Amino acid sequence: MSAAPSISAAPLFCDVSLPVPVDHVFTYSLPLTLRHRVQVGCRVLVPFGSRQLTGVVLRTHGDRPAASTRDALRLLDEEPALSSDMIQLGQWISTYYCAPLGETLRAMTPLSGDLRRGRVYTLTPSGRDTARQLHLAVTPNSSNDEPDAASQLLRLLDARPLSASYLAQKVPKAATVLRALEKKGLVESEDTAADRDPLRASAERLRVEFAARTEAKLPKAERELLAYLELHPGAHNVKALEASVAKASPAARALARKSLVKLELEPVSSLAAPPRAPHALNSHQQAAFDTISAALTSGQYCAFLLEGVTGSGKTEVYLNAIEAALMLGRGALLLVPEIGLTPAVAAQFHHRFGPRVAMLHSAFHDSERAQEWRRIHSGEASVVVATRSGVFAPVHNLGLIIVDEEHDQSYKQQDTPRYHGRDVAVVRARDARAVAVLGSATPSLETRYNAERGKYTRLELPERIESRPLPRVALIDMRQEFLETRKQATFSRVLIDAVTERLASGEQTMLLLNRRGFSSFVTCRSCGERVQCTNCSVTLTYHRRDRRMLCHYCSYSERVPEKCAKCGSEYLQFVGLGSERVEEELHAAFPRARIARLDRDTVSGKHDYETILAGFREHNFDILVGTQMIAKGHDIPNVTLVGIVSADVGLGLPDFRAAERTFQLLTQAAGRAGRGSTPGIVLIQTINPDHYAIRCAAAQDYEAFYAKEIEFRRSMFYPPFGALANLVVRATHDEDALSRSAALGRLLNPPPEGVKVLGPAPAAVPRLKNEYRYQMLLKTSSRKRLNEILGEIRRFAAAEKWNPTALAIDVDPITLL
Ligand code: ADP
Ligand code: ZN
Ligand code: ZN
Repeated sequence: MSAAPSISAAPLFCDVSLPVPVDHVFTYSLPLTLRHRVQVGCRVLVPFGSRQLTGVVLRTHGDRPAASTRDALRLLDEEPALSSDMIQLGQWISTYYCAPLGETLRAMTPLSGDLRRGRVYTLTPSGRDTARQLHLAVTPNSSNDEPDAASQLLRLLDARPLSASYLAQKVPKAATVLRALEKKGLVESEDTAADRDPLRASAERLRVEFAARTEAKLPKAERELLAYLELHPGAHNVKALEASVAKASPAARALARKSLVKLELEPVSSLAAPPRAPHALNSHQQAAFDTISAALTSGQYCAFLLEGVTGSGKTEVYLNAIEAALMLGRGALLLVPEIGLTPAVAAQFHHRFGPRVAMLHSAFHDSERAQEWRRIHSGEASVVVATRSGVFAPVHNLGLIIVDEEHDQSYKQQDTPRYHGRDVAVVRARDARAVAVLGSATPSLETRYNAERGKYTRLELPERIESRPLPRVALIDMRQEFLETRKQATFSRVLIDAVTERLASGEQTMLLLNRRGFSSFVTCRSCGERVQCTNCSVTLTYHRRDRRMLCHYCSYSERVPEKCAKCGSEYLQFVGLGSERVEEELHAAFPRARIARLDRDTVSGKHDYETILAGFREHNFDILVGTQMIAKGHDIPNVTLVGIVSADVGLGLPDFRAAERTFQLLTQAAGRAGRGSTPGIVLIQTINPDHYAIRCAAAQDYEAFYAKEIEFRRSMFYPPFGALANLVVRATHDEDALSRSAALGRLLNPPPEGVKVLGPAPAAVPRLKNEYRYQMLLKTSSRKRLNEILGEIRRFAAAEKWNPTALAIDVDPITLL
């Protein structure tokens, strides 16, 4: 024994940030078993009221708090899930976007919070002993069913941890009995998404590896598989193994249960389709790459705008930049829009960087995300391709962050924390002394303005690959078309001719209409009543395939009415055009054409999107109809015609970004045409042929659009000139929403100096998901001031004891709707 004092240096308490909508850190005491293990950045399970929550440890210490503390229940990470850099980034986000820190940190760790899907039960040591005795006992007690259920449960759990839902299927009254067992200390549960069980995944998704030899006698198939794996070290795809070993799949599962083999879900990235070979860079690509590469070598923060026209080969520049970062021993992160992470993209990266690539996508299973996240966290994967929340991927020694299609709306999170992934990426790069590259053919006004002001360095790819021409674009004035044909047609004569030619020549067509459904709304011819959502103040959209009226805001649906609910008239009119109807009319116009549709109604599972696109790429379809989904990044050389059925959708929305969005959508859609050796054409149907967004898109002239739009923003003091925050007050009762928004109005009257206050006024959608909504907009040139005022507003709401969800604050909103 040493003479050291017996007082242990181990911390007695930890401060935990919890995913609750308050700006509070909660202190818990650390039981002996946890004292030496808990580190800052680890997740812990703690009691909170009657619930158990997962939080992040921000500090461990010995300062006994005034009030009594409860014990932390369990440590969920041996290694911190969040590094101090990431916690710091979380603090920045929490301050900048006025979001509670706990909710922000939860959004940053894919392994916690939102993954809390099911409760998983495990045996405690004493539960294990009891279960062993049960196995020995020959006669189960059947006199009453409670102990019987209990022993069944214990036996099942003795094999492995199981989810509550699974147990509920197997054992009657499982939930009640489990609770009793938990009280007795025989089982414990965890309210976290257990990784999806590899034992239940399909064979294509599994890889198996030899783990241990056994003396025990095994069935033939298992014996053979085990022998094969021992002789062939490394991980093997289970499906592929079936060619060499009979019954490989069931045998692998059985062996895994006996812990004789290691069975894992295949990393997501290796499931990809066949790749294409890297290209030698052309001179513009080379120049852009050289500049990025020099910045990487300098080891200093630097941000670039890579502005390259559609088809200029931005991806190839990214790939080379990532390679350069890896050569310098640094990691790289590529962010792509929500639907940009297709297997085709994945394949390209996997081909280039092999097992060093990890993919994070919101559509993946929790377990897949968790698995990829761990590969990044451990340093096994140093290249990450991810959608928005991947900006938090724990990449080691991050040297490069690329944000592809930086203008894309999906980078902005629409609930707390309402961060913009692109802007967080830049902040993260700055703090990590990394290089940020924002790429787009149609940069957002903010980004381009930042480049203008010298915050970002602008790099240009002014030409398409191999000097291919940009497509030729023609505007078709649908008002004129109507005057000449006297028909309210969906397709103009020019468009019909152009499609006919493509069908004859074996080239392909894409048709864009950025609106789902069949008809936009149904109205009564007698009284003018429109069919409305019961939860929202919006009209319902008619979806023909489902024969239902659907709310695009809350997914409420009802049967198609036979008569007007108000006046009983049977004369109902279906008004407005959606992508579903475009498809139907195309079938009528081109009965022999093979047509596919890509929109949120045809894409429900995560594979549908790629299946439809792959089918189109392989020319199983002649025409692809769709919403903005078809405008994103696709590179399909045989597409020589892009038709915009109506360029006017979205133009009239009461949102200061309406023009920008229209320009981006049309330019991106146009950019899908003529990417192969045959030049492409684009036909834009519109009733606003003189609108600058449409004119500039037709000319594919970003410069002209920017020049015009930036003046509008300057004169109206909209971003990038004024910093903007959108406040929405929500309540189930109109009076509450109204009185609270009025209270906010009084708080900001007279407006604080240097701040413009608009509203309160009913929101653009005054009733949404059964809540009444009022809106206020703050504009100011001073970020600091904006942040202070928002702080005051939040304190006010807290002092007034508003429900935390009653006030939504959106800093840098991308939409005011
Ligand atoms: P962007 O994202 O700029 O619209 P992509 O990165 O999709 O363009 O590239 C367009 C096409 O050009 C892709 O098929 C790509 O493989 C090809 N490509 C890129 N760079 C080169 C090059 N240097 N030489 C030949 N083809 C290239
Ligand atoms: Zn009516
Ligand atoms: Zn609704």
